[in-house]
Amino acid sequence: MHEFDLIARFFSRPSPRAVLGVGDDCALLAPKPGMLWAVSTDMLVQGEHFFPGVAPDTLGHKALAVNLSDLAACGAQPVAFTLALALPQVDESWLQGFSEGLYALADEHGCELVGGDTTRGPMTISITVFGQVPPGHALLRSGAKPGDDIYVSGNLGDARLALQALREPRAVPPALLQRARQRLEMPSPRVALGLALRTIASAAIDVSDGLLGDLGHLLQASRVGAIIQTNLAIDLLASRDALKSESEGESVKGLFSHEEQLSYVLAGGDDYELVFTAPPNARPAVLAAAAQSGTPVTCIGHICAAPGLQLIDAQGQSMPNRFASFNHFAPA
Ligand code: ADP
Ligand code: MG
Repeated sequence: MHEFDLIARFFSRPSPRAVLGVGDDCALLAPKPGMLWAVSTDMLVQGEHFFPGVAPDTLGHKALAVNLSDLAACGAQPVAFTLALALPQVDESWLQGFSEGLYALADEHGCELVGGDTTRGPMTISITVFGQVPPGHALLRSGAKPGDDIYVSGNLGDARLALQALREPRAVPPALLQRARQRLEMPSPRVALGLALRTIASAAIDVSDGLLGDLGHLLQASRVGAIIQTNLAIDLLASRDALKSESEGESVKGLFSHEEQLSYVLAGGDDYELVFTAPPNARPAVLAAAAQSGTPVTCIGHICAAPGLQLIDAQGQSMPNRFASFNHFAPA
């Protein structure tokens, strides 16, 4: 199949909100009067970010989801995106599945595919998203203040648990693995929560490489430190209840140690949740934003003036931070 037939067949749906979409040398976009563009790029490389055999529709979903997560972290409303695709060969059924997964999530967020590039090469998917935000309303990493509460949306660690189970098969009950795998392969970008937090949160970042690492970026940008209650954080692992019980009909006790569970929550990565801060008097507004966006949020600690990250356990005892976040260029 010719490159241009491929684009016409799989990536040329109408984009009525763009001034000009796929087909010319450039797409043309007009921000609403007075709005700023929020722009972000994220790339997925086969073998590095996803397994070779992963279902194409889930890959299409995830490629866009990780980008929408960046818009969510800025409190931006998705508008459009471009797609740069390197493929080792043309596989029509793969392209069909991929484009369906991609468009399904795009439609959910009213985000239009307006252009891209297609080439032969090792499978790589790079998306650039364009969102809108009023000047002064973007959520940044740099606004956290001492005394602010630290919140996390949704759940943490289940994606990492699934990755572990897929890498070195353990006797994980199928229902448990399937739920965790859903978190790894089909993350839900927290766009509605990001929008609802615009005038409420003092700082935000999305969790892609692990909670402590990404929170560390926020702390550095804000020139503050944090105290994290690990006993509250570990309950964010959705699989935790199932791991504590025998309810799946198979013994799962001890399948993942407490230490493993904690490391998945604190440093697992691939969560695509938001971690954000807000002053204590904003708590009712935070909870209202969570309710309005249908996204649970949990307070797991607070910001302090002294730099650094302090972990404490259920007894209030300080714990060493032995949880390293994901780093693509970490020495082997
Ligand atoms: P050029 O040679 O000017 O870069 P291309 O031949 O690469 O243009 O692309 C032709 C048109 O198809 C352009 O509008 C481009 O944005 C669009 N396009 C190419 N690849 C994709 C893709 N994977 N998804 C969406 N649009 C694409
Ligand atoms: Mg091109």
